[in-house]
Amino acid sequence: MRIGYGYDAHRLKAGRECILCGVGIPCDFGPDGHSDADVPVHALMDALLGALALGDIGKWFPDSDEKFRMADSVELLKLVYSAVMERGYILGNADITIVLQSPRLSGYIKQMRAVLADALESEIGRISIKATTEERMGFTGDGTGIAATAVVLLKEQMQN
Ligand code: MG
Repeated sequence: MRIGYGYDAHRLKAGRECILCGVGIPCDFGPDGHSDADVPVHALMDALLGALALGDIGKWFPDSDEKFRMADSVELLKLVYSAVMERGYILGNADITIVLQSPRLSGYIKQMRAVLADALESEIGRISIKATTEERMGFTGDGTGIAATAVVLLKEQMQN
C-alpha cells in the first residue's frame, strides 16, 4: 500500500465560477487560477501523485501551458488516475477537507463525492469530503482564499 498527501490554496475572486470537486456552487465569487481552479481536486491529484512519488501537478500540468487554461480539473484527475492504474495501483480510499468561510457546502457534498467516485472508478463509500471553516481566522477566514487537503491510500493490484 502507498499513502499520499496533497494541499492546495487559491485566492478567491469576485465573478469567478466556483467549481469544487466538479460541482458548480452558486456563489458570486470563486477560486482564481489558470485552470478552473478546483482546489480540492488539485489537492487530490497531488495526493495521488505523491503516493507514487510521481511529482506534482505543477510538473504534470504547467500553468505556463495554454492547453490548461480553464482546464476541467476533473478531466485532469482522470489522467492522473490513469497513470496510477498504469503503475498497478487502485484507490483504497480518499479523504478530502475543504477549508472555506462561506458559502456552506454541506448541501453539495454528496454530489461532489459522486463526481469523484466516478472519476476514480470507485465507490462513493471510499470517497470522503469534509468542509470546515477556520472561524474567521487567517486567509480562509477573512474570505481572501480557499484551501483544501487530501489524503489517499493506494492498493497494489494483485498480478495473476
Ligand atoms: Mg491549484
